[in-house]
Amino acid sequence: WTGAKEIDTRFAGKLPRRAAELREVKGIGPYTAGAIASIAAGERTPLVDGNVARVLARVFAIEHDIKGSAGTKALWKTAGELMTALPEAAAPGDLNQGLMELGATLCSPTSPRCLGCPLAVHCIARRDGRTGELPVIAPRKKQADLPVLERTLVWIERTGGIVIARRRPDGLFGGLWELPDRELAEQLGARVDDQAVAHHDQVLTHRRLRVTVVCGTLDRATRLLVATEVPGYDAVARVALVKAGTLGVAAATTAILRKYQDNPWNSTPKPSRSSPRGTRRSSKASASSATTSTTRTSPIPRSARRKASTSSSTTRGRSRPR
Ligand code: SF4
Repeated sequence: WTGAKEIDTRFAGKLPRRAAELREVKGIGPYTAGAIASIAAGERTPLVDGNVARVLARVFAIEHDIKGSAGTKALWKTAGELMTALPEAAAPGDLNQGLMELGATLCSPTSPRCLGCPLAVHCIARRDGRTGELPVIAPRKKQADLPVLERTLVWIERTGGIVIARRRPDGLFGGLWELPDRELAEQLGARVDDQAVAHHDQVLTHRRLRVTVVCGTLDRATRLLVATEVPGYDAVARVALVKAGTLGVAAATTAILRKYQDNPWNSTPKPSRSSPRGTRRSSKASASSATTSTTRTSPIPRSARRKASTSSSTTRGRSRPR
């Protein structure tokens, strides 16, 4: 109402068409001002919403938290530079709408479909295998305080499929299929690598989930039996990779499958020096909450994995599953 009165008194009852004037109207923020001015009035002015922020942060590898002030400044500056570089004949509204559409369709938060993206050749995040890390979004304080549940899941490829296991109905992620955890994989007789090939972070209702993915191999002759002695599971199966996503699969495993399809890792493990380890849970974590609110999955780039296996112990330590 205040904004409407302002338009009435200051702008003679007409909605201004310039972004700078629109921003002076109470209730109209920079995004709305940019949208009205560029799309309706053809002004060469940028806009940044959540979708545009994600695209720009990935294409230009903006390292600031996109929700912080430095990140916001960097995003608007980058969007402004893009607008300045737009050819004279092009419509500014089309650029802004194109970026929004790209973020809403192809460049999704957890599973960007880079293969079909028109910006793929310019995108630094895609080039460097960092789509899981960018954009940077600092965990909100409340999330940062949540206890962390760390899990190691094992990627076992076998005759054109992968091994998955079903959680018991009464426990954590009950009834859902997932990659087997380390304890189950080792009980099945798998040789499990120590080197992480991907990570997945997810915020649940009462804790943060940190999944580390390592590779494992099974002898061809090994039969996949229901592992009754491993707590948490009631079935084990091998499924074709393309079919795995059609089962009732836990969100973490879904994200890991997508990541593998976009950027496959070498699934043949190196000789392992590990001792059996299974799911570790922080003391505060309860077994009752599994509601997803946010997720992030990042593969470990091949170059980093190579470095991790040959260089400093710090790097090696960081890439090992906890
Ligand atoms: S190449 Fe991938 S990460 Fe980069 S903008 Fe396109 S969809 Fe997003």
